[in-house]
Amino acid sequence: MRHPFRVVIVTGVPGVGKTTVLRLTAEKARERGLNVEVVNFGSFMLDYAVREGIIEDRDKIRTLPLRKQLDLQAKAAKAIIEYAKEKLGEDGYLFIDTHALVRTVAGYWPGLPKHVIDHLLPDMIAVVEAPPEVVAARQERDKTRYRKDFGGVEGVRRLMEYARAASFASAVFYASTVAIIENPEGRAEEAAEKLLSYIVNL
Ligand code: ATP
Ligand code: AMP
Ligand code: MG
Repeated sequence: MRHPFRVVIVTGVPGVGKTTVLRLTAEKARERGLNVEVVNFGSFMLDYAVREGIIEDRDKIRTLPLRKQLDLQAKAAKAIIEYAKEKLGEDGYLFIDTHALVRTVAGYWPGLPKHVIDHLLPDMIAVVEAPPEVVAARQERDKTRYRKDFGGVEGVRRLMEYARAASFASAVFYASTVAIIENPEGRAEEAAEKLLSYIVNL
């Protein structure tokens, strides 16, 4: 039911700070001598999409036909574990930066359905959270990404509610723990410390 290395899936609505918190978590974990790999699920999907010449922007993935997104999702899950098996031994940690729920052009769609979880076998699913107004402000400030399709504060609030439920649903398949990690404004370090304090007990 588990890989030899620990698998920590990190979820949260777009712009909440998953990638930021994970960068800090990996730094702190390595300082403490832990063997850590961080992968971004969307980057693996994007690599396949770029190779096929269909899109070049990660924020376009969720606008593709759902059958195509499903194909990319399945390929990414498999490739991530192959990568981790090469990189990590028994005492390593694999962090996967991803989404429990994706707001697509055809409705809310699970990022961690059974066929994905069957590959990832997560020890933990972390849900990074911040107040919806704060998340909307971060989305607005970050000009490197397109996140205007999330419906502002109300859209973020609704997605947060559904995404939390989706994380618990995904945790059921292989008895993963669920950890809610607050990412307070200007204090992403605290979220990273909190995440670290959980994972050393897995
Ligand atoms: P996506 O799912 O779209 O990839 P994400 O959850 O990975 O989003 P980030 O890219 O890490 O989000 O962060 C979004 C923006 O919020 C960035 O500009 C980042 O610098 C900022 N940010 C992240 N955490 C904090 C924080 N604790 N305080 C203030 N700003 C933050
Ligand atoms: P991110 O940079 O984390 O926002 O990822 C970019 C995009 O990849 C997301 O907006 C989704 O379209 C897609 N994505 C990431 N993780 C998953 C997943 N587990 N299942 C389906 N799509 C995903
Ligand atoms: Mg990110």
